[in-house]
Amino acid sequence: MTYTVGGSKSELRHAKRQLVTVLDLNKCIGCQTCTVACKNIWTKRPGTEHMRWANVTTYPGAGYPRNYEQKGGGFKDGKPQRGVIPIYSETGDNFQFNQKEVMFEGHGQRVHMQPKRHLDGQDPDWGYNWDEDQGGGEWPNAFFFYLARMCNHCTNPACLAACPTQAIYKREQDGIVLVDQTKCKGHRHCVEACPYKAIYFNPVSQTSEKCIMCFPRIEQGIAPACSRQCPGRVRCFGYIDDETTFVHKLVHKWKVALPLHPEYGTEPNVFYVPPMGSRAFDGEGEITDKSRIPNEKLMELFGPRVIDALAVLRDEREKQHRGEKSELMDILISNNWKDRFGGFDKDPLTQAGANKES
Ligand code: SF4
Ligand code: SF4
Repeated sequence: MTYTVGGSKSELRHAKRQLVTVLDLNKCIGCQTCTVACKNIWTKRPGTEHMRWANVTTYPGAGYPRNYEQKGGGFKDGKPQRGVIPIYSETGDNFQFNQKEVMFEGHGQRVHMQPKRHLDGQDPDWGYNWDEDQGGGEWPNAFFFYLARMCNHCTNPACLAACPTQAIYKREQDGIVLVDQTKCKGHRHCVEACPYKAIYFNPVSQTSEKCIMCFPRIEQGIAPACSRQCPGRVRCFGYIDDETTFVHKLVHKWKVALPLHPEYGTEPNVFYVPPMGSRAFDGEGEITDKSRIPNEKLMELFGPRVIDALAVLRDEREKQHRGEKSELMDILISNNWKDRFGGFDKDPLTQAGANKES
């Protein structure tokens, strides 16, 4: 394995194949298993405390890092856009808890576990997943859904384009976007440029870091930890050019899986099956066929194609309800979980040399 490459920007972004992830937002239960699986393997080192390469927040909400959608970056009409770097507290501090007082000093009956800010010991006023389950809409048609995010391993990565030291590159064999830690000089232009704010600065190593799509597992046929550990069977994984994979079928055949914020211009390789939402009540309190999630909100996230995607999902669901067979519903339900992983279904516990924590 060699991970050090060089060359022009077009060479650095070239990939012969592309691994992609598809998430079904109708099934995510917000359990954070993906977040924890990733953190346990990759971001327990000094300087990575604030990083959650895999993260899940409630939509509508400020997201992670806080208000990432207002921080610029990406491309407009092919031109790179200015962005800002999230500050430490926007990614969520590494809170300290009073375990000693509660667990070991005999005060457990009257003192509750409480977080304090890591840097100044004050009560926190923001943190990761701070606005969990707050949602939006108006009673009785309130709504929310969970939005799991990570680096999109973009086909046109803004982080790669912005890096002045050629440290960021796509792996030719599978399109994974990596930061060569030996070349990164910590300029943070990549953090500014990524419109998803999915790349982070490590203040200890003074380099940028991001999701590596669990490439040491991939090389042994094991799906990334976030996909493998998901109890909701939300995630599918595999090569987009392999017509037998669920990811190919959901993106290209059924066209129900869409990228988040396609207008950012980076051509993401994480796709979402949009949430159909609970059915709304009308003014008389009667249940209707309309979703509680406004189409405009979904179009803000996934672009205008989301309307057609939702129509296909509804049609196929109706078909299933009538007792007819639906390939799409069979894919989304996935009675056999291994079918979701495009051949990356080896057990992490039996693979020599693999990280065995997830
Ligand atoms: S999501 Fe951001 S960090 Fe990831 S490849 Fe795209 S531009 Fe780079
Ligand atoms: S593990 Fe799966 S169900 Fe749980 S939050 Fe992550 S994507 Fe959602």
